[in-house]
Amino acid sequence: MNQNLNLSPTPTAAPMPVQSPAVRRHNFEEVALGYDEITAMEEARRCLGCPGAPCRGGCPVGVHIPQFIAKVAEGDFAAAWEILSADNTLPAVCGRVCPQENQCQAACVRGKKGDSVAIGRLERFVADWHRAQQEPKAPSCAEEKGKKVAVVGSGPAGLACAGELARKGYSVTVFEALHTPGGVLAYGIPAFRLPKDILHEEIAGLEKLGITIQTDTVIGRTIPVEELLKDGFSAVFLGSGAGLPNFMGIPGETLCGVFSANEWLTRINLMHAAEPGAATPLMPAKQVVVVGGGNVAMDAARCALRCGAEVTIVYRRGREELPARAEEVEHAEEEGITFRLLTNPVEILGDENGFVTGIRCDTMALGEPDESGRRRPEVVPGAQFTLDCDAVIMAIGTTPNPLLHRTTAGLAADRRGRLTTEEGSCRTSLPGVFAGGDAVTGAATVILAMGAGRKAAQEIDEYLRKNPSH
Ligand code: FAD
Ligand code: SF4
Repeated sequence: MNQNLNLSPTPTAAPMPVQSPAVRRHNFEEVALGYDEITAMEEARRCLGCPGAPCRGGCPVGVHIPQFIAKVAEGDFAAAWEILSADNTLPAVCGRVCPQENQCQAACVRGKKGDSVAIGRLERFVADWHRAQQEPKAPSCAEEKGKKVAVVGSGPAGLACAGELARKGYSVTVFEALHTPGGVLAYGIPAFRLPKDILHEEIAGLEKLGITIQTDTVIGRTIPVEELLKDGFSAVFLGSGAGLPNFMGIPGETLCGVFSANEWLTRINLMHAAEPGAATPLMPAKQVVVVGGGNVAMDAARCALRCGAEVTIVYRRGREELPARAEEVEHAEEEGITFRLLTNPVEILGDENGFVTGIRCDTMALGEPDESGRRRPEVVPGAQFTLDCDAVIMAIGTTPNPLLHRTTAGLAADRRGRLTTEEGSCRTSLPGVFAGGDAVTGAATVILAMGAGRKAAQEIDEYLRKNPSH
């Protein structure tokens, strides 16, 4: 436990240094710059080392938070890394993109009188410190079990499952549909929030555990799930995510210049469409409207801004209801993105050539709470207006791709396409087939997907111990 209990009385967390908004709105470099050693140690000394560690209860992968923070406070960063990496396979990623304010930090006792301990920033510091070492220590694995497990999808759920299984001594192959591993971490979250070299290094660290990643392989198309089981894999984990974009179903959504946020972000992140000389450049839009209020909308909007457009986010509820992380909303505002709240599109307008010219919207007001507990947006009669624009990006959610359950006999899914698992477990309707992450929950968070991947690995291990003939 932290021996430096409460030595620092400051109620506020050490601020994260960031690139200035005026500079960063023109580049894709990382916005947050990270703590230095002195700042990290000072912040770590704010931790009270609480008995029972309520912060740990808020972490879906169960990181031993006070223990790793105590090591940071002592300046023993190598020991902090050992503790952190025992539970979290992607700490540099999580330290950057996890909504800690709703998870570990929401439970932090320090947060009752002032700021909670900046657990995420400390996690990022430790992971970055480790990456900067000349010869980072390779993680250790249990003795080989002589059994193969297939993991479908290389997003956080698949990677966490694969890492945990490899550490337990299984031989793991990850099958990924795209040409690059990482799932949303690679194709969705922009480099200014999660630099791609950091992601690739964390994935390379997992490969050092012996995991094989086979890209350009669509399970259910290139190889059916049943074939994996016949082909020597003793169990399969499905971590195929929720990558199918939703549209509103309003007139004009097929006009040139209307994108799903997933397509927009994939083109920028994986096809480098914003770089000069790109083989498949994005159309040079001057005024972009992004529809939605979540992290995906913020990412799409901030990418459009960095491509040189004026950007407006339209969202049908109010500011308090914005589902995006508060920090992302603040960063978007600082960079000059306009928010039109209580605004709901009803039609996308186009010219005679089929290109977007504007978006017609209803003005909304908030009524009584709906089934989600949030106040229901209601149309204000006679208050429609039009915003001029030449591109519209739809960021109103995603659902799982139906390919796997349509091509796998007996694999159950609900009416929204989410794979069905037994209550409290990752077991699907098929023996030996497990699932977790967004494919089961619908679009959620990185750490929840990782928690599910880790749980599935434990269940797969139990299943194979009980069924040694598989
Ligand atoms: P995914 O990350 O979607 O990975 C699934 C992988 O499976 C993909 O690589 C896909 O290509 C592959 N796949 C699918 N079908 C097949 C198949 N049949 N065969 C082989 N491979 C297949 N969460 C946060 O916590 N913080 C954030 O800041 C945040 N920002 C986000 C920003 C964006 C733009 C998006 C889209 C999401 C964001 N999220 C964020 C949500 C988070 O990224 C997801 O909840 C998380 O990635 C889900 O992990 P997953 O492994 O279940 O699925
Ligand atoms: Fe430290 Fe906060 Fe966890 Fe207490 S709850 S151990 S103060 S991080």
